[in-house]
Amino acid sequence: MATAEKEIATRRTIPHWINGTQTAGKQQRMADVFDPATGRVNARVPLATSGEVAAAIENARTAAPGWAATPPVKRARVLFRFKDLIDRHADELAAIITSEHGKVIDDARGSLQRGLEVVEFACGIPHLLKGEYSGQVGSGVDSFSTRQPVGVCAGITPFNFPAMVPMWMFPVAIACGNTFVLKPSEKDPSCSVRMAELLSEAGLPDGVLNVVHGDKVAVDALLSSAHIAAVSFVGSTPVAEYVYREAAASGKRVQALGGAKNHLVVLPDADMDQAADALIGSAYGSAGERCMAISVAVAVGDAGDELVRRLEPRVRALTVGAGTDPDSEMGPLVTAEHRDRVLDYINSGIQEGANLLVDGRDRMGDFKAGFFLGPSLFDHADREMRIYREEIFGPVLTIVRVADFDAALRLVSEHEFGNGAAVFTRDGDAAREFAYRAEAGMIGVNVPIPVPMAFHSFGGWKRSLFGDVAVHGMEGVRFYTRLKTVTSRWPTGIRKGAEFDMPTIE
Ligand code: NAD
Repeated sequence: MATAEKEIATRRTIPHWINGTQTAGKQQRMADVFDPATGRVNARVPLATSGEVAAAIENARTAAPGWAATPPVKRARVLFRFKDLIDRHADELAAIITSEHGKVIDDARGSLQRGLEVVEFACGIPHLLKGEYSGQVGSGVDSFSTRQPVGVCAGITPFNFPAMVPMWMFPVAIACGNTFVLKPSEKDPSCSVRMAELLSEAGLPDGVLNVVHGDKVAVDALLSSAHIAAVSFVGSTPVAEYVYREAAASGKRVQALGGAKNHLVVLPDADMDQAADALIGSAYGSAGERCMAISVAVAVGDAGDELVRRLEPRVRALTVGAGTDPDSEMGPLVTAEHRDRVLDYINSGIQEGANLLVDGRDRMGDFKAGFFLGPSLFDHADREMRIYREEIFGPVLTIVRVADFDAALRLVSEHEFGNGAAVFTRDGDAAREFAYRAEAGMIGVNVPIPVPMAFHSFGGWKRSLFGDVAVHGMEGVRFYTRLKTVTSRWPTGIRKGAEFDMPTIE
């Protein structure tokens, strides 16, 4: 056997997780899963056929009545044990994330922690599902409302948070009494399978959480299935819009979170050292592959020169390296294809006339292999340029200079995306005005990445979220349940017979 063939033969195949067990599947089509730090193929993942997706849904359907009837207190106990298992396996899970995504290990741990906070929130489900009761809404009539599970839910998730984003969804969905089919990103799918195994160890009945790998074929099978009641999607805007349309057209409830272009506005009175620190971490952390990454710094008035003076040397000095190296501040991009997309944006920025102060391409020669690209910094970009308008999703920060606060606010509010936006200032009045008027779903005041805690909800505005409801927190509980209101009386004595008038309360 030739060496290349031997290498392929010994590669690990990542299994689906169906009905409480690893399943190899038909493997009619396979995708490579890379280690972004070496560029080598680490494993292969099967891409499910629509028939395989249908079989996963069938398992979730079979498990649904029993799980829905399980008292919320017992469901919560499973999640408490899951939380403990995630804690104990945190190093292992973080290593899996880094090996397939490339982000630095501390960042991988941090993202796991943010996902775990949703599990902690979901552990309170008996309290969260408590309904409302009104006694004596009429003479001898009482009314109560309760929330019941919707049935089988689906989650379709992106590559950039292989643990956290699935955990935005399935812990809340299953806590509410639903069963779940998760279709993680085919670029870094191992973490989802490991989490499903841990949930099983925690006592989750077979079939309640299923993980099926795949691409558009699998997604379409979920969207068109008559047995899926609700779809949660997180990914790029074109796919989010497609998922929203298709799922809604077939009568499902749907929340589809899309792309972003998050602005950080720096007013001239801000603490410039703090603002520069915030920009470095939020623009280049996770190599810019975060939906809440800051990709535009809006410098108001004199702030531009002050910022550039501080940012430029820091960007040049960023330590780029493998995510497993504790000294690395920024890892590689997820795939060679994605790096090429980011390179294309750098070229377009130069062609359209922005001033490239730090060129990340210069750092590529430092690495013999892997999907590395150094951090880039553009100055004097304007709103017509592609590097300003479009989501780059890489280590590129673009500075746009504006004259005043109103011009900065207009930029934020008129952009097609509205995920997050931040302002750095010492002026409380300006900060309040910004928080009130900026058209974005999540606002930071002297906080660059205002990701809400699990007991609040996460979601953007405009083309960053299709659907009415954000993820996790009480929005998540409402999304994964349906309201039932019961009005009851226990009459005794003479029966009046049939009544044909619109009932009113006497
Ligand atoms: P993506 O849209 O390429 O993929 C997301 C999911 O959709 C994956 O599971 C993928 O298999 C599937 N998919 C891809 N193409 C499809 C198609 N044509 N039809 C049906 N399904 C398809 O996104 P990505 O590259 O994995 O992730 C990065 C994107 O996700 C960025 O745009 C980022 O902003 C966004 N994101 C948004 C949030 C948020 O909260 N708004 C959070 C994380 C990531």
